[in-house]
Amino acid sequence: MKTSVIGYPRVGTLRELKFASEKYFRGDISTEELEATAADLRKTHWATQKENGVDYIPSNDFSFFDGTLETAVLLNIIPKRYSDLKLGELDTYFAMARGYQGESGDVKALAMKKWFNTNYHYMVPEIDDDCEIKLNGTKPFDLFNEAKAQGIATKPVIVGAFTMLKLARFTGSKSIADFTDAVADVYAQILEKLGALGAEWVQFDEPYLVHDLDKDDISLFETLYNKILASKGGVKVLVQTYFGDIRDCYKEVTALDFDGVGLDFIEGKRTLDLVKTNGFPSGKTLFAGVVNGKNIWRNHYAKTIETVTELNKLADEVVISTSCSLLHVPYTLKHEQKLDESRKKHFAFAEEKLGELNELKSVLAAPNAYETAEYKANAALFEESRDCDNKAVQARVASLTDADFVRLPEFHEREKIQKDAFKLPLFPTTTIGSFPQTADVRENRRKFKKGEITEQEYVDFNKKKIEECVRLQEEIGIDVLVHGEYERNDMVEYFGECLSGYLFTEKAWVQSYGTRCVKPPIVWGDVSREKPMTVAWSTYAKSLTDKPMKGMLTGPVTILNWSFPREDISLKECAYQIGLAIKDEVLDLEANGINIIQIDEAALREKLPLRKTDWTDEYLSWAIPAFRLVHNTVKPETQIHTHMCYSEFADIIKEIDDMDADVITFEASRSDLTILDVLKENNFRTEVGPGVYDIHSPRIPSAEEIKAALNKMLARIPASKLWVNPDCGLKTRGVAETKPSLTNMVAAAKELRNENQ
Ligand code: GLN
Ligand code: ZN
Repeated sequence: MKTSVIGYPRVGTLRELKFASEKYFRGDISTEELEATAADLRKTHWATQKENGVDYIPSNDFSFFDGTLETAVLLNIIPKRYSDLKLGELDTYFAMARGYQGESGDVKALAMKKWFNTNYHYMVPEIDDDCEIKLNGTKPFDLFNEAKAQGIATKPVIVGAFTMLKLARFTGSKSIADFTDAVADVYAQILEKLGALGAEWVQFDEPYLVHDLDKDDISLFETLYNKILASKGGVKVLVQTYFGDIRDCYKEVTALDFDGVGLDFIEGKRTLDLVKTNGFPSGKTLFAGVVNGKNIWRNHYAKTIETVTELNKLADEVVISTSCSLLHVPYTLKHEQKLDESRKKHFAFAEEKLGELNELKSVLAAPNAYETAEYKANAALFEESRDCDNKAVQARVASLTDADFVRLPEFHEREKIQKDAFKLPLFPTTTIGSFPQTADVRENRRKFKKGEITEQEYVDFNKKKIEECVRLQEEIGIDVLVHGEYERNDMVEYFGECLSGYLFTEKAWVQSYGTRCVKPPIVWGDVSREKPMTVAWSTYAKSLTDKPMKGMLTGPVTILNWSFPREDISLKECAYQIGLAIKDEVLDLEANGINIIQIDEAALREKLPLRKTDWTDEYLSWAIPAFRLVHNTVKPETQIHTHMCYSEFADIIKEIDDMDADVITFEASRSDLTILDVLKENNFRTEVGPGVYDIHSPRIPSAEEIKAALNKMLARIPASKLWVNPDCGLKTRGVAETKPSLTNMVAAAKELRNENQ
């Protein structure tokens, strides 16, 4: 039995790539130095996989920013505004990823979206009518050779033709059909070249197949691959799917001339059934995703053995693999010094998952799997009871009734009460919460964590920052202030650390987008709040100003979605537990005079099941109530805000309104403004702050530009409901761009106010 890895994390166990890239962006290091760091990382990653006996080691899974963007560039999908900058290859790529403002011009970045149901983001390929699809660049070939030179035969990995076309945005009048042939040609050329270089296998990632597909989708897939696979240049082709099952196209996919089909047995609820019912073609290899690439719990060997044993009866050859790229889990437990051994032994990060694949390989090769020492040790681990129960929390969730999910009085009555109470100007300005997390802020936190400074020193420093932040906002003239979130490393990890039932890690970084990584906490047991988490910071900030101070919390759905969840209780149960903990915090903030409270649900959409048919039953039916539970008992004059990091919620618009918040802010600047039409059509009642500029990019928007955006919004949103804010928190931005950007934002709001009064 052989093993395969779909993809490996690339930022480095200590985020080396992130730091090198950031130095490169600042102009501190050269292209060569950045390339050298990247090559070092690749070398280590390949060697680690080799040491762990991985048979099919991926190459070309490395990326400086995003693999979809890399594939777009490989297909020459480079919009003219970027090629017009006449920058070098790498800088053009970074301009597409991050936007560019400098001597050569001023362009925004490509749109960025959640990668399926993960917290990873990809850059949306943009195909205009002039796009000439052709093979551009040599990256997959170079990386294959690079590994080969190190004595490692790899399986190049490329985002597949179908997924690329389905994820792309077509900005002109042409559509997928106009590019199908050209795209297929390029993939065929890629196969030929890799074949010539001596690749045995090539992996095409086609996660898009796990969506609900219609006839046209399936026939597009067939057209593409009939062409691509016509002559494979002597390479075996693996079509790799993940994040679910391929129930709509299993027969068609397995009937095509692929040599291997990769299926997900973790998230794919129906995968095993599909193979059993339809069989698996002889002569082909089934790559069975049995080691969870998304969660960090140890693999339950008993279950895996059962699955693989069944598959062995159905397919000629079974290769065991991760269920998706390991990009979505942290590198290794080795750096976790503070995590107790009794906890650690229940987890497997990327490197430990390689170890699991290796163990499973020998367990499955043994005459009796159940007699192996590896199996027995694993079985013992799963029999052990973990200390994770909190009976009081369980009882509190069990006693919830319908009334716990309803806020009274209803929205319109509250809206009137709040307008009277706050007397905010038309188009109130605010921010999403965090202010730049400058080096001194991180240093203060680091020193405190290391015990190099006292708690008092830590707090005093943050208070100083809060005061600066309040003064800055007053100077700029913002209407609803925030404290700046200096105490938070991350909007979820912070709460994880404050809540009991949570475990947190030191170095367990997972890439979120580009150079940005997050460290998701782990839900270990029943969750509860032992003491207030944000009240001291918020009340201190409020004491400094006469302006309204917005309290800042993360909502239960987002906390859960950005944590590694338990696998022994339902997500609903867990979301309600977290909801009750956050509810207690909301009530404490209110009791302490904070009467505008933002409860971020940045990640609400991302865990929507990929298949629409599962949306309500599997997700929305508990996610929306979990949010309502958090705020249903606040006073009518307390204004509840929420924030979401995306604007694609046209198809859940009713549910978003049903969260029953008073105000919602969301990202709108990177996408077109179609969401505003949807708001209008649906008589969206929640007040809205569609982000007026993009905080993911360092460029400074002008007041005119912001005003133009606001005018577009105003054409669709009643003036009385429109808020003015950036599209997300400012923590990743520098002070240098933050102040002028916000100043321009306020100027734009004021002008608009004058014109509309
Ligand atoms: N309040 C958070 C912040 O400003 C929200 C971040 C987010 O939506 N990702 O940082
Ligand atoms: Zn956001």
